[in-house]
Amino acid sequence: MFEVIALGVGDAFSTRHHGSSFLLSEAGFILAVDCPADYRKTLQDASAANGRQISAEDISHMLITHVHGDHMNGLEGLALYKQRFEKKRLRLALTPEVHAVIWDQRLAAGIGLRWENGRAQKLGFEDFFEHLPLSWDGENKIGPFRVRLRRTRHMVPASALLVQAGGRSFGYSCDTVFDPELIRFLEPADLIFHEVGAGGPHTTYAELASLPESLRRKMRLIHYPDDFTPPDGALALLQEGETLAV
Ligand SMILES: [Zn+2]
Repeated sequence: MFEVIALGVGDAFSTRHHGSSFLLSEAGFILAVDCPADYRKTLQDASAANGRQISAEDISHMLITHVHGDHMNGLEGLALYKQRFEKKRLRLALTPEVHAVIWDQRLAAGIGLRWENGRAQKLGFEDFFEHLPLSWDGENKIGPFRVRLRRTRHMVPASALLVQAGGRSFGYSCDTVFDPELIRFLEPADLIFHEVGAGGPHTTYAELASLPESLRRKMRLIHYPDDFTPPDGALALLQEGETLAV
């Protein structure tokens, strides 16, 4: 059964929630989407909330939607943990735009050198990761999942997702301003996570509340600020640890 397990639901400034992230699960295969800071604690807290033990050892495939810190600051620690304690590389699904900068501009400064036999040894992306290149066109196969991408309207290249498995379909807005074209891309999904924020580079609740009821019914809100409470019952907040059947 295609399920989604919510790990983090907060925005970049949250003091109450982990950064927005979740796991897609189908027939024992897990595809993790995004990697907020303190990722092992993020997994631990979700496990405590839903009673299903999920640890870093269960994460072999991960997709990073974009390089903003609240979506990838945990990657350094997770990559090091896998290398040191599991002797494994993380399979990392990235768009060309994310792949072009994630090592040189985000990760190399922290884990690009290792101290060994009294001297610094240079490491590269391939020492920690196996790259699964994502294409903007057509379907990307990752385990049992068929993943389609769409660029969102955000400060850096970011990808919304439409993921199919087992005859069901899940949509994720990623970070974006309200975009009717993106809503049309997500609309075929049986379950949709859509971000909500205070406007600016994010989508407002009022914009989502204006959508038809048939669409809102299958939508849950993610990436919300600490002080945000839906003013009415038009849309429901996603909770950390929540497991939803797609
Ligand atoms: Zn972002």
